[in-house]
Amino acid sequence: RNSAEKFEFQAEVSRLMDIIINSLYSNKDIFLRELISNASDALDKIRFLTLTDKEALGEGDTAKLEIQIKLDKENKILSIRDRGVGMTKEDLIKNLGTIAKSGTSAFVEKMQTGGDLNLIGQFGVGFYSVYLVADYVEVVSKHNDDKQYVWESKADGSFAISEDTWNEPLGRGTEIKLHLRDEAKEYLEEGKLKDLVKKYSEFINFPIYLWATKEVDVEVPADEEESSEEEESTTERTEEEETEDDEEKKPKTKTVKETTTEWELLNDMKAVWLRSPKEVTEEEYAKFYHSLAKDFGDDKPMTWSHFSAEGDVEFKALLFVPPKAPHDLYESYYNANKSNLKLYVRRVFISDEFDDLLPKYLSFLMGIVDSDTLPLNVSREMLQQHSSLKTIKKKLIRKALDMIRKLAEEDPDEYSNKEKTDDEKSAMEEKKGQYAKFWNEFGKSVKLGIIEDGKLVSLDEYISRMKSGQKDIFYLTGSSKEQLEKSPFLEQLTKKNYEVIYFTDPVDEYLMQYLMDYEDKKFQNVSKEGLKLGKDSKLKDLKESFKELTDWWKKALDTEGIDSVKISNRLHNTPCVVVTSKYGWSSNMEKIMQAQTL
Ligand code: ADP
Ligand code: MG
Repeated sequence: RNSAEKFEFQAEVSRLMDIIINSLYSNKDIFLRELISNASDALDKIRFLTLTDKEALGEGDTAKLEIQIKLDKENKILSIRDRGVGMTKEDLIKNLGTIAKSGTSAFVEKMQTGGDLNLIGQFGVGFYSVYLVADYVEVVSKHNDDKQYVWESKADGSFAISEDTWNEPLGRGTEIKLHLRDEAKEYLEEGKLKDLVKKYSEFINFPIYLWATKEVDVEVPADEEESSEEEESTTERTEEEETEDDEEKKPKTKTVKETTTEWELLNDMKAVWLRSPKEVTEEEYAKFYHSLAKDFGDDKPMTWSHFSAEGDVEFKALLFVPPKAPHDLYESYYNANKSNLKLYVRRVFISDEFDDLLPKYLSFLMGIVDSDTLPLNVSREMLQQHSSLKTIKKKLIRKALDMIRKLAEEDPDEYSNKEKTDDEKSAMEEKKGQYAKFWNEFGKSVKLGIIEDGKLVSLDEYISRMKSGQKDIFYLTGSSKEQLEKSPFLEQLTKKNYEVIYFTDPVDEYLMQYLMDYEDKKFQNVSKEGLKLGKDSKLKDLKESFKELTDWWKKALDTEGIDSVKISNRLHNTPCVVVTSKYGWSSNMEKIMQAQTL
């Protein structure tokens, strides 16, 4: 088109599109759920705007918050239309091509090292998956604040934008037309699309319609000679074919199949979180998690908590622990606007950028909160200030920690020494190792939580196993379990059956500076001064008789920075060890600090 303005894709986006268009990736299905998810986001946005501006919704068909899929077999076009917020010309330029999202380069990098395209939605570049199946894409869009525009691209490094003077006016919203490649013709089959929507988009909160053919029974006059020729040759009948004089002569009728086309609803929009937990199957929870997290792998969430809160502040919530930590969990840790919780008020999506619904250290949780108490007709900013949010947050934290504690309690590796019936034991076998898995993925978050919050979840068990006379919680820090196991500091402790907690993450050293005590028990680094292993009556005598040696030793090493030389009962085979002072850095911390300054 002559009037079209041409634009270059941002380099990173262009690279991404190249990867997609040349991909031999077999699961091309994913494009559909990405488009439906974008349509649903756009509908959420207009519905939210409507809360404070009634006019925004429009009238007639424009006000219908729905998604429509149409197939044009002849021209090999699949189109997906929504009546969402739409995009202005500027939005089209910005959102579809010129400004790379933060996830773009991360995703390109992943894909170059054999990453899974399936994760595209998680990186915020799901739209470009259309080029898995199409070689030419048109995006027609109408936003309330602008005219209707067409964005188009053949994924050749550039795109064009024109004011739309030839398509049907959309009212408001977006229609994406995919000109399918020959290899992608299967997406013109109604059955295929119905299956895909069922599989990936069942939990979309807006109706998804397919313009589908349908066989209907129609009563027609029974006319043997004519019907045998006509009805077999064509499946479509028009009204003219039912001739009037037939009716008079032969009052008999017969039933034939005819094909019509109509909008068929493909999803039932049941909000899982509003249902009673008893009625939701594990399968449904898993599926809902996948659509929420845009994670369509085979992994089920590790666990979840579905509950409702009553009282002054009423809400329903569904929290998931994902099977794996998201790729940017710690990158975005200090990014205040990052949250994986979606806030709804009476089923209307409000925001997924409320940073104050959960503390940062629980930001790995995915889920939904739907409140009946919060007001609907105020801005996000006002809502963010609402006093109910504090109560919601408190309850969410409690439930989240309960859920995590339960992961440990059900795991026989964690609670092996508890009395259990055989039935309980076999039920627990299934959960074997689940807490270790959790810890592996999210342990760091829990530790950061201790730094932020000063609370701890699972030390109760340690305390319950402490030996009589043991006053402190023993721990040792180092770079790996293997290294720690060989430590001479453990000799005596192991021999006497004391339990020692191993900390092998660099962040642990920082953690332990904040974590002084728990339930009145002090933390004692066993490589530091001050280890007390109950009363030892011989120790006093030994100190006396070796005083000469220790004094000599102290003098001999004075210039090396030694504080003191002491007789102790902490060793078994090793004759002596170097111990750090109570308030100094542990040797492990020294190493960490050294590594940081290098
Ligand atoms: P994401 O959905 O994670 O933001 P996408 O690549 O899927 O990433 O989409 C990019 C952007 O394009 C969206 O953030 C949105 O602003 C815009 N967009 C895509 N599809 C639509 C649509 N149907 N209606 C309105 N805006 C859309
Ligand atoms: Mg998207």
